[in-house]
Amino acid sequence: MKRRTLWILGVVLVCVLAGIGTCGLYIYRSWPISVKKGERIICSDPKHQGNRILENNIETIEVPRSKAGKYRIVEKKVVCTDCKPVKVQCGEKVVCPDCGEVLQDATEFVSVPKREASQYKLIVKQKICRDCNEQRQTFGGSPKEIVIKFINSVKQGRLSRAQEYVKETVMLYGDLGLTRFGKDEFAQVCVSEFANTKIEIKKEKIIGSTAEVLIRNFTVNDWNFLLLKEYGYWRISGVRLE
Ligand SMILES: [Zn+2]
Ligand SMILES: [Zn+2]
Repeated sequence: MKRRTLWILGVVLVCVLAGIGTCGLYIYRSWPISVKKGERIICSDPKHQGNRILENNIETIEVPRSKAGKYRIVEKKVVCTDCKPVKVQCGEKVVCPDCGEVLQDATEFVSVPKREASQYKLIVKQKICRDCNEQRQTFGGSPKEIVIKFINSVKQGRLSRAQEYVKETVMLYGDLGLTRFGKDEFAQVCVSEFANTKIEIKKEKIIGSTAEVLIRNFTVNDWNFLLLKEYGYWRISGVRLE
């Protein structure tokens, strides 16, 4: 009898202890704990400068201990924009400012990390090319030079050359008022005016992009040529008879 009671007590005790144990384990496993989860983006370039972590989307949450293993931090490796190679042109080149032709090219394209790109410099120097220089010699010059080139071309009968120094239409301000000439007509008019006369420049006046050149040609009137500067060249736009 006594032994039986002891047995029962023993079994009850085991049951109670087991119950407490199970209960404790359950509480332990479901107790909330803090875990970190999310994604971290890291630059994988070994020469990366500064903080390697580009993005850190990590949050701390509370979850039951039993579920904690499901949450983790995922690291994603990329090459950041600063480390990514870019193509840059560096060196020196010589370019004609008038026609844009490249006269000398000692440049090369190199592939460098973007963060270093600013160290590679492209130097562009200007030098007028032979053709453009000839063009400037032929069709360029000061207002005075343009008028002389025009008159000399007229005297030589090179009318198409002469027209190069003249705008599309030319205004002639004379005794009879204003007459408008096309550039070919104007060159023709000048043939009779300048063909066999000596000329002398009396005055050149430049104001900004307009100019006046007064010519004495030993006929009735002095011719005051009016010029405008267009695209870097002086061109005859009118004449005022003085
Ligand atoms: Zn980087
Ligand atoms: Zn050129």
